Amino acid sequence: MEEKIRKVAVVGTGTLGTQIGIQAACFDYEVSAYDTDEGSFNRVQQNLKAFMKISGREPIVPMEDWEKGSDKVKFCTELEEALRDADIVIEAVPEDLELKRKVFGRIDALAPRGAILATNSSSMPVSKMESATARPEQCLNTHFYSPATGLNMVDIMGGTKTTAETIEAGKAWIRSIGCVPLTVKKEILGFCFNRVWRAIKRETLYMWGEGFVDFRDIDRAWMIFTGMTQGPFGIMDNVGLDVVYDIEMVYYNESRDPKDHPPEALKAIVEREELGLKTGKGFYTYPDPEFSRPDFLKG
Ligand code: NAD
Repeated sequence: MEEKIRKVAVVGTGTLGTQIGIQAACFDYEVSAYDTDEGSFNRVQQNLKAFMKISGREPIVPMEDWEKGSDKVKFCTELEEALRDADIVIEAVPEDLELKRKVFGRIDALAPRGAILATNSSSMPVSKMESATARPEQCLNTHFYSPATGLNMVDIMGGTKTTAETIEAGKAWIRSIGCVPLTVKKEILGFCFNRVWRAIKRETLYMWGEGFVDFRDIDRAWMIFTGMTQGPFGIMDNVGLDVVYDIEMVYYNESRDPKDHPPEALKAIVEREELGLKTGKGFYTYPDPEFSRPDFLKG
């Protein structure tokens, strides 16, 4: 356990907040969690287990310990209770700047003065949220991937006033929960590896959205090329297609480059509530997606 951080609070227990809370609990931190939707923590855990089965991927800790970790996370029905005595607070609410700023402001008002405030945003620099707090020097981006499926790396980036001490404390905490910090030295949209992954998303969504190729062929190629058990479209289904759409819009709103705009076909899927694994249908249909069948790679 990292020395100065004892208690972790997670705000927003959707796909990622749930995983972050469990990861910290597995490494013996006291963890409390809050979400406006009281059923989310349990529901997401079931989805995660289904995904582990489909993808053949598992957490870096033995499954038994992960289950024990999930039992240790204390879900609170009041934000104030979740934040009590917290040393670090991870915000993982939807990718909407106005909402994140509002939540950051509330966390700042309720969390102990010394606590670090971190956002799990997939695209927004914390510099866009820090001014909603009275402690910009203690604000961070900590972008987790998917620790429940073994992707134990975390992009870490400061805002305009973040102190070196805060960055170091964040990195030490990330290491202490079995994850690898990927440090961004200068603010950039997309952070470290997530910007690389975003380039893959943009290109593959464009090729599918404009009708050049079937998404399954892109996934087949990716799986053969990398040896992974899913391709970009399978991974996007796991992330949540609403979340993917919102992230792509952040890039578009920043650049206003039409090439950055997600395809209309993606918007149509999201409007049909086909959000991927969490709703049972996205590019693929769950719990038995084509990419996990033995003959998928034969084409
Ligand atoms: P999600 O939609 O699965 O979960 C968001 C949760 O936030 C929901 O349970 C919702 O009820 C809750 N919420 C909404 N408003 C709230 C509020 N005011 N207070 C507390 N809880 C509130 O989203 P997600 O996929 O977990 O993404 C959350 C954040 O993590 C986003 O910023 C996203 O970009 C980022 N992220 C997602 C992934 C991924 O693979 N899904 C990966 C890395 C980062």
